[in-house]
Order: sequence, then structure tokens, then C-alpha cells
Amino acid sequence: MNLAKILADDILARVDKPSRYLGTELNSVHKDPGDVDVRIALAFPDLYDIGLGNLGLHILYAILNALPWCWAERVYAPGLDLEALLRERGLPLFALESKDGLGAFDGIGVTLQSELTGTNILNIIDLAGMPLRTRDRRESDPLVFAGGPAVFNPEPLAPFIDFFVIGDGEDVIVEIAEVFRRVRGRAARLEALAEIEGIYVPALYPMETLPDGRILPPVDGPRIRKRLARDLNRATFPVSYIVPFTRQVHDRISLEVLRGCTQGCRFCQAGMTTRPVRERSLEEIDRLLQQTLDTTGYEEVSLVSLSTCDYSHVRSLVQQTVERAAPRKVGVSLPSLRLDSFSVELADMVADIRRTGLTVAPEAASPRLRAVINKWIPDEDLLRMATEAYRRGWDHVKLYFMIGLPTERDDDIQAIADLTLRVLEEGREIHPKARVHTGVSTFVPKPFTPFQWAAQIDIDETRRRQEILYQRFRGKGGVKFGRHHAEDTFLEGIISRADRRAADLIEAAFRLGCRFDNWDEHRDFARWQQAIEQVGWDCAFELRQRRLDERLPWDHIDVLIDKEWFVEEWRRAEQLQHAEDCRHSRCHRCGVIDRERPLCASMLRGAIEGRKAEKDWVRPPRPPELGVLRPGQPPVRPAEPPAVQRVVFRIGIVGVARFLTHLETMNAWIRALRRAKVPLAYSEGFHPHPKVAFSGARPLAEETLGDFMDVQLTARVDPAVVVERLRATVPAGFRVMGAREIPLSADSLMSAVEGADYRVYLPVFDGLGAAVERLLAADSLPVERRRKKRGRRGRPGTRTVDLRDNLVSLELLGEDAGIAELAMSLRTNAQGRGARPSEIIGLLGGDPAKARVVRLATRFRGDLAARLAGVGTRRLQPAS
Ligand code: SF4
Repeated sequence: MNLAKILADDILARVDKPSRYLGTELNSVHKDPGDVDVRIALAFPDLYDIGLGNLGLHILYAILNALPWCWAERVYAPGLDLEALLRERGLPLFALESKDGLGAFDGIGVTLQSELTGTNILNIIDLAGMPLRTRDRRESDPLVFAGGPAVFNPEPLAPFIDFFVIGDGEDVIVEIAEVFRRVRGRAARLEALAEIEGIYVPALYPMETLPDGRILPPVDGPRIRKRLARDLNRATFPVSYIVPFTRQVHDRISLEVLRGCTQGCRFCQAGMTTRPVRERSLEEIDRLLQQTLDTTGYEEVSLVSLSTCDYSHVRSLVQQTVERAAPRKVGVSLPSLRLDSFSVELADMVADIRRTGLTVAPEAASPRLRAVINKWIPDEDLLRMATEAYRRGWDHVKLYFMIGLPTERDDDIQAIADLTLRVLEEGREIHPKARVHTGVSTFVPKPFTPFQWAAQIDIDETRRRQEILYQRFRGKGGVKFGRHHAEDTFLEGIISRADRRAADLIEAAFRLGCRFDNWDEHRDFARWQQAIEQVGWDCAFELRQRRLDERLPWDHIDVLIDKEWFVEEWRRAEQLQHAEDCRHSRCHRCGVIDRERPLCASMLRGAIEGRKAEKDWVRPPRPPELGVLRPGQPPVRPAEPPAVQRVVFRIGIVGVARFLTHLETMNAWIRALRRAKVPLAYSEGFHPHPKVAFSGARPLAEETLGDFMDVQLTARVDPAVVVERLRATVPAGFRVMGAREIPLSADSLMSAVEGADYRVYLPVFDGLGAAVERLLAADSLPVERRRKKRGRRGRPGTRTVDLRDNLVSLELLGEDAGIAELAMSLRTNAQGRGARPSEIIGLLGGDPAKARVVRLATRFRGDLAARLAGVGTRRLQPAS
């Protein structure tokens, strides 16, 4: 079965955003399966649009593909429409690059981002054609493994996953691939994998069933110790980042500057499981930034970590990044800000003159509750921070809080409203239109936190507490209140601390059709309730407070922190005791230092050195590219350098790249121009755009060898040289055939388009020749078109259009192997209205979805006809 052909011929044109499934993005890796010994599919259990921003997956992809004997590909959760088509036709889910079904791989490695992706993971396994449970799998089935931030209680998914990877994946992924290469056979591979530090093979691990039914590891069993990337400077960073065609949720380079966090927020699992802090050096970050910008053409870089403001040389880091990025028109973002004015200063250094929202997460509003969670900051500091933000030009501040935290009372919830309104009041004194966005989520106690024993509030209580806030904010201008769905956190809570029996619940939900459970628009809570009833899941038992001496399903996992320390922290929380960040005070003996003394020592030393180095730092002037802020007046952006040259490129889109939308191809061309270091001219204003225009909008699924791209430049270039540079950096399926300079004053391409010539290939049908004759002889060629505006009943209306004027010529050139080849020439009529080849194919009686259309040339009128005649025609390949 040639799945790639089936997808191209029959499936991709029928699904939403086919670009999600192409696998031909720039920097995607394509190898010959015959040249490699090991094939691994890296799976992300959510849509491509969400998953492509996942840094962990990019890192593993880069590491595995650097091994000449291994090919790592990607797979994302299919959209519901693709899933339906695959199931209807009995086709397997496939890896993006090769389009091979997942059954052909040695391993499928799943990134666990949250507890609510369980049904999507089962869907991937099921669509791979494998039994859901590991005990039922065949010898030939790939091994399914999982790692990532939500892996620290692996038990709910243990019956479906052959092995788990605990901790950092950089080193262990190579060891896994080596086992796949060296060892044959399922059982032998699992035994070899179980020997590797950080790998947990549930089928080989002893378990006990307790009298209350829970299935747990024995108290005295071996423990699985997490893996650590000890030196981030030597850890792989994917400088050849995959550049998506479609705009992503986080459409930027995520440059990890440090890993781990020692702030000690008592609810935060990531902060506990990633200790100790390890940093990349300033020099290494700068080197990676330059390389990644060169290989991607991205317009934004985010300095990511759990808390970037805690980087030991953070001022120097932000300064060097801004200086590197601003001249290239690359934005810089800091996704995690601390609750102090210092953070506002850092945000101010990276922000351009578009200052929308500044986000901070106090999590709790009352000083008492902030002491419980160990986010120790006085209200006055918070207010000062917000005031500083408004003073520096932000028009709104986003505040994130949690409800349902341990020991929370109604007055703590009222404090959220009080603090929000105080921030608004302070803001309005500076900025009459200041606003506050307050978002509230519900606390879910997580394994490996001091709150792992705490109770979680149920749906009714969540709604009651949310209602308190809703009533306080009702009718208050300037406050926007957002809350998470109560069902969302409830589902997370009944799984996150569960034992192995939760697998029955997840499987029942999957079989009832649950998918994308962390998407509000897809989550079907009624089906989950049905699953809960079916398996008799005791939700109250799962949400309950645990005894401190209770055995926990994750006791066999070792994250380097002692359980006794978590107990002490829980007691300190009850007594409102603060435990300051060990990097700024002293070691609290959480346990890591006893196992990784050199790492903790180097972390503490680095923090001291950083404080010394940053003490005398003086903020440099803002780079002029970021614009000038004038208090009380509109900000001023410097004038863009004028265009001095205009170059028109003849461009093409062939193969599966035809399934990109016009907008996606435009983005891809602009990023290719950036990578080719073309000196692009930009428009003026708050949102400067490169001055790049196209001869027309290419319909989805239409190939072209005859489109044109008009680029204005701020410095003169040799068009032939730029053509070569561009060819070297375009994604697969993109063609650059030639270029020519035109005067700056020439007409816009689109206004001068006279028409286009096409080749059309479509399955032969009876009477095709006669239909061509009939069309040519007809006085009118009416077609129905949808109106863009909706009609009275909300449905788009239709109108009839006559294409007689548009059809210039149509000729049946011949037939070969059941496929007819036609030459078609269309024009834009006197009213400026064009026609689409698909409309003419429909008038002939053919099926446009089964036709292949190739635009061979765009014809221009007026001055541009002569100026662009013959551009790139030497390289014009006849369609085959
Ligand atoms: S052992 Fe001490 S220095 Fe190391 S992470 Fe824990 S508290 Fe910090």
C-alpha cells in the first residue's frame, strides 16, 4: 500500500489544514529506510498546531537524526476529520516524513504533557493497528514508550506503555536507540531497556494489590532514578528547528536558557522534579541564537525556562539577546516573569512599542495563602510591580490565581477580587484606560510536591468559589475575569494521583469516543461520566486528602528529593513558614545535594557569581529599532529605510506542497527571504510588514510554475545571486525559477494580471472530447459561487456567474493510461473577475477533487507584460 499516494490523491484535500500532515517543512529530516537500522516515531498526543512548539520533541528529533543509523520521524494526534477518513478506509496512522504506518517502526515515543492526553495516546496506538494493552501486543509491534513532564506518576498509563523514561531525555534516548539496534525481540529488548537508569518497564516491575483494591509498587522494591542532563552547554539544542508552514500557537524559537527551579512553590511539580538548576552560558546561548535564526528565519525568540528571571546573569542575557535580535527585526519574549519590579524592567527591555498585556502569576492573593504556597511577596511589592508596568506603557496587566489551594477560605477568594481592584485603581491613576485581566484556575494536587497529600475540591465547590469572584467582578469596568472549566480540573484530578486501575477508566473513555480532553470545544464530559459509571470509578476517593504515611502509586520513582522533605515542607506550609530559594539563601537539604553534590555546588556558586557580576550592571539605551517611548504621548518608531530596488521572482509550488494554503506559502516565502538574508523593506506603523506581494492567491491543491513574487529591498542586490541563495533555503516543493528587477514605480503585480495558462490532468470519462467542444461553442457558462457574506438564515448564499468571458481556450491534448491532458487558458474579464480551473472542470462534467491542475504561466497586461516576459522560463519543467 502506497500510503503517501493515497493521502495525496484522495485524503489531504478533504481535511482541515492539510499542512499539518505534509512532513515537508524546512529542516524536517528525510532518510532512506533502507539506510538505517532503527526507526523511531516521536509522537505528540495533541494536534500538530500545539505539538510543533514542543521543545522536547525537537531536541529528541535532532539527537536521534544525528545518528546515521537511526531515523526519527514525527506523528501528532490526527484531527477528527483525518481520524474518520483513516478509520473509514482502514488506513493506519502514519509518520509525517515517510508516510509509513506506525506499525513499521521499532519504537513509538510519546511526549506526556498532561494527564488529559490519555485518550489521544490510546487513539494513536489504536490507529497504529496495535492492541491497546501491552500484554496483548504481538512480537512485531513497535515498543511504545513515554516521557515528558507528566510522566512522574506513570501508573494510570502503565498497562498501555511498554516503558517509561523518567527525567531528561538527552542521553537516555541514544541508549534506547542503541538497544533497538543491538537487541532483537520484544522481551529481550524490554529486559535490556530495564537495565538503563531512568527507564521503568511496568511489565517487569513487581506490583501488589492492596485490600482496598489499589495496585501499587511494594514498599521495599527497587526505585527508578530520574535522568539528568548535567551540562546544558553540552546538551543538544535543535538549531535546525523545524519551521512550520502554518502559524502555530507558539510560533517562535524556544531557546532554553536554564532548566530546573529552586523557588520552591509548594504546588509546582515541575519546580520539584527538575532540580537542581542548570544553566547555559551566555556565550552558548548567543551562539545557539545566531545559528537558529540563520537556519529558520523565525521572527521571534522566547528565552524559555521555568523562571527565566532567575537566570544568574539575566540582565546581560536579555541585553545581549535584544542587541542580537533587534537589527534582524526579531522579537524577544520572556514567558515567565517574577513578581517584582525588576521583572518589569526586564520585560521593558525586550518589549517593542506594542505593549499589550504583561502577565504575572501571584497564584494566591492573601498574604496568608501566599505563605502556604511559599510565594512570599508582600501586596505592596505586587502593586508596585503593576504600577511600574502601567507607567512603562502596558495598557493591561494579566494576573493568574488558583482557587482550591490547601487551607483556602472564602476570605482568600475575596482577596483575589480585592487585589485585582486595587491593581486596577492604581493603574487608572496612571492610565485612564488601564485594565486588569484576572484568570483563575483550580488547584490540582500533583505527585512529588509538598501538596501531594492534599484534597482537591470537586466540581460543585469549584463553581461555588468561582461564583464568588464572578459576583465581585460583575459590572466592574476594566476587569476581565476568566476561569477554567470545573470539569477540566476535575478530570485531571481523578487521574493524576491514581494507581494502575485508572487505565480502565481511560480506556472506557476512549472507547466511548473521548478525544482532545484538554480542549474545551472537544471535551465531552457526559461521555466521561458514562465511563466513570461503567468502571465504577470512585472520584471522591481520588480527590480525597491522603494520610502522610499512605503508600503512593509513585513511591517507586526517585526524583532525587526525599519524601521526608516533602513531609517537612507540608508541615511548614501548615505553619505558614517560608522556605526561601536556596540559590538566594542556603541549602534546605531537599535531598538533591546528597545525590548530586557537584551539581548543587555549581548551582549555588553560579548564583553567587551572577549576583556579583550583575551588581554593577547599567542598563544600556534601548536599541533604536525598538522605538522610543514618551510618557503620555504616542510612542515613536523610527522610520523604516526606504526601498531602493524592486525584484520580481518567478516562483512555483509543486508536489504535496500544493496542499499549503496561500497564506502558508506566503509565510514560507517570507521566512525563506529572511534566511537568504535579503535586505527586505518594511512598511511603516505599529506592525511593520515586509514589502512582499504576490501575483495572485493560489487555490489549495493547485500546483504552479508560473506565479510571481514582488519584493522591495532597502539595498541593491544582484537578482541572479539572490535567486541562488533563495533556492538553497526553500522548503521541499518550492521552486525559484528566475528573477528580474522592475522599476520601483511599476504597477502592482496583482493589478496587472491579465490571465493564466494551465495544464489539467483528469481521469478520462465518456464524452470528454464532446464536452470540450460544447464548452467552447456555448454562449454562456454559468456557475454557482458562494457569497462571502452570510444570508438571512446564517448560511452563505450563492450567486450565478457567467464564465464565458473568462475562458480563452481549452484543448484536449491527449490521453495516457486513463488520464486526459488538457491545455486551458483563462483570463480576468473586464470587471476584474477571474475564473478557477476547477470551475471549468466542473462544467466539463469532471470531478475537480480528482484533477491535477498546474498553472504554467501568469499573463500580465500593460508595461509588466514586456518587463516580465521570459523570466524563469528556461527552468520551466513540463509537468509530469
Ligand atoms: S539540595 Fe539544597 S541546594 Fe540542592 S536543590 Fe535542594 S535545597 Fe537547593
